[in-house]
Amino acid sequence: MNFILLGAPGSGKGTVAEALNKSFGLTHISTGDLFRMNIGNCTELGQKAKAFIDKGDLVPDDITVAMVKGRLSDKDCLSGFMLDGFPRTIPQAEALETMLQLTGQKIDAVINLQVSDAVIIRRISDRRVCKECGATYSISFNPPLKEDHCDVCDGLIVQRADDMPDTVLTRLATYARKTKPLVDYYAGKGILMTVDNEMGIGFAMRQIQDELKSKNIIN
Ligand code: AMP
Repeated sequence: MNFILLGAPGSGKGTVAEALNKSFGLTHISTGDLFRMNIGNCTELGQKAKAFIDKGDLVPDDITVAMVKGRLSDKDCLSGFMLDGFPRTIPQAEALETMLQLTGQKIDAVINLQVSDAVIIRRISDRRVCKECGATYSISFNPPLKEDHCDVCDGLIVQRADDMPDTVLTRLATYARKTKPLVDYYAGKGILMTVDNEMGIGFAMRQIQDELKSKNIIN
């Protein structure tokens, strides 16, 4: 099974990806995580991407597509993958289709997570991440046990530069302009599933399981 997770920034793609991983053991590919890893390791790709990410803009399609192409050619993607945060533009979706045609693979379902802008803004302003291992916390709902330090590795907990309020508004506008057209694009292909992700992960997972069953993607 190969899935795409679609949704605005802060719609909970990371949390749903983790839960789907537990249920189906798919390889999780988050383009945001891949960019952050490259930035952290000071690679040439990371240096190119950083300026766009810090402003809340999308990294150009050619850079992003090349990175995903490399990752999808890894062995662990052969038994099923879940793309989180890719594609984010129509040209990226078209490039993905071409890539998969070449390897005889296809996307089985596009899971579109729906959350209101008010909830998104609250979730993002609450979000904190560990600088060392990337573990995610919410200061209201899931704070670290020791203030400002990660429960997993004791690294420093920080707010992502692109989670600052002005940048979040840019990211939401970019989502509406460039990514939302993908909803119609995948609906037209008959593989879109829309899931309400305001009520917590349990409710979202039940909807996903029901939809996958009704489409005979799982038993
Ligand atoms: P995320 O962690 O998915 O919210 O991604 C963080 C940032 O990485 C985004 O705001 C973009 O700047 C960049 N990014 C992630 N995925 C993509 C993509 N598919 N295309 C372009 N930029 C991306």
